[in-house]
Amino acid sequence: MTTYAPTTPVEGLMMRTPLLVRALAERAQQLFSEREVVSVTVDGVERSSYGEVVERARRLASALRELGIRPGDRVGTFGWNSRRHLELYLAVPSMGAVLHTLNVRLFEDDLRYIVGHAEDRVIFLDASLAELMPRFEGVEHEILMPDSDRERPGALAYEELTAGGDPGFEFPELDENVAAAMCYTSGTTGRPKGIVYSHRSTVLHSLLANQADGPGLRERDSVLPIVPMFHANAWGLPYAAMLAGSRLVLPGPKMDPSYLAGLIHDEQVTFSAAVPTIWQGIAQIDPQPRIPSLERIFCGGSAVPEALIRAYDERFGIPIIQAWGMTETSPMASFCLIPPDGPAPRSDEGYALRATQGRVVPFVDSRVDEDAGGELQVRGPTIARAYYNDETGAEKFTEDGWLRTGDVAQMQPGNFIKLVDRTKDVIKSGGEWISSVELENAIMGHPEVAEAAVVAVADERWGERPCACVVRREGSELDAEGVRRFLSNRVAKWWLPERIEFIAEVPKTSVGKFDKKVLRAQLKEKSR
Ligand code: ADP
Repeated sequence: MTTYAPTTPVEGLMMRTPLLVRALAERAQQLFSEREVVSVTVDGVERSSYGEVVERARRLASALRELGIRPGDRVGTFGWNSRRHLELYLAVPSMGAVLHTLNVRLFEDDLRYIVGHAEDRVIFLDASLAELMPRFEGVEHEILMPDSDRERPGALAYEELTAGGDPGFEFPELDENVAAAMCYTSGTTGRPKGIVYSHRSTVLHSLLANQADGPGLRERDSVLPIVPMFHANAWGLPYAAMLAGSRLVLPGPKMDPSYLAGLIHDEQVTFSAAVPTIWQGIAQIDPQPRIPSLERIFCGGSAVPEALIRAYDERFGIPIIQAWGMTETSPMASFCLIPPDGPAPRSDEGYALRATQGRVVPFVDSRVDEDAGGELQVRGPTIARAYYNDETGAEKFTEDGWLRTGDVAQMQPGNFIKLVDRTKDVIKSGGEWISSVELENAIMGHPEVAEAAVVAVADERWGERPCACVVRREGSELDAEGVRRFLSNRVAKWWLPERIEFIAEVPKTSVGKFDKKVLRAQLKEKSR
């Protein structure tokens, strides 16, 4: 029998190089200096390169230091996906300060709370947003980024500021565990909560994004992050693209589907990522847009309907790959790719699998806590362990160190995560669960349905019943009976919603998700 006598552990003798955001910038400047960065503005397109972007980031960092920004200070941004925003993504963390991206779609009250809570010292804003951004107390300087000719009285000019900076500024050595960036999430009850990314988590996330069975960005890719840089770092794609040396196409304020489809075509985009709403919008353009350069699409942020995945296969021949994550998870935490021994991607079984959230990314563990109603919980080096200065958020973490996602999941064979609901949004009918997400997806499979949201309504007999709120496509006269007939062979009989409301639009949160709180309130109002 082998015995293991205790010995002194041998120390690994590899270099302790910290994992820092600055390494992404330095690598891009050295290896990909000529690679193009395309940035859309209100009335044109700016073309630059990683070489220029990194040089300007160095100037910016030195100018910020002159302005009195010290390591640890929070630097806010209020901007679209742009070249200057990318410069901030590099300069601010690399000088030891904390990049705080503000969600431009939030309401003023939340923004004031967030800026105050984070104690932002300066805020960089796009000129096109100059009229939208409130004046915040305590912010010492506003710096205007010229994506249009709008002005902002009192603001410093970005180009003047950077022109005065030092292009040879050396980014300092930092501990890899210090904060690089922060982002507030409103996907929780109560006040928005701050998530603080470290340099280490950011670099790890960029690496895991670049594995082949993931976004897998390559040097020969042209990457269009449609997901905003003000929401969970555009899923980390700007950093991942830079690490790979991919060409970057940043859409600026232009978010309408026709423009985006044109941009994909004109800039020969090979990879793009956005929430389902955007891909639905592009699919509905008439006549059908030409986007043959697109090789793969990442989609997530809310459940990706199976019908959407099918539509892109059938109409465009482009695979939609579902990703799941949260601001708390950096954000990408799972990808759905079919393993070699899995079903054919275009078979019914394949589509069913592709409509799941997939398997967790490297270094992340997941579990389903049945005692917590089937809640999905995750942990790992790219997962938040606390919220920034917010005791009320403690309940989102378990005592044994997992993040409670608030999503309800079933673990399918092969460890594929299938989200069936959210803890706050589950329908329990006669002691059994009904998945509002699955019902919605089924209804949205109807060709005459543009959108559908399902919420729980109180029911004397069953406790709760589902109520379906359906947005018909233009010209459709679909009625409740038609919806039920369509559903009858797609879901269990007892799932069929008795109440079906036809509405003009599903209310959305600032980031474009169904706002069920608002929807529930509207229904209540209606039933009075
Ligand atoms: P994100 O950047 O992913 O939108 P948020 O923090 O705003 O991050 O929202 C996270 C929540 O969004 C998740 O907890 C989940 O409820 C929902 N979500 C994200 N991706 C998916 C997906 N692929 N399918 C279903 N729900 C999703």
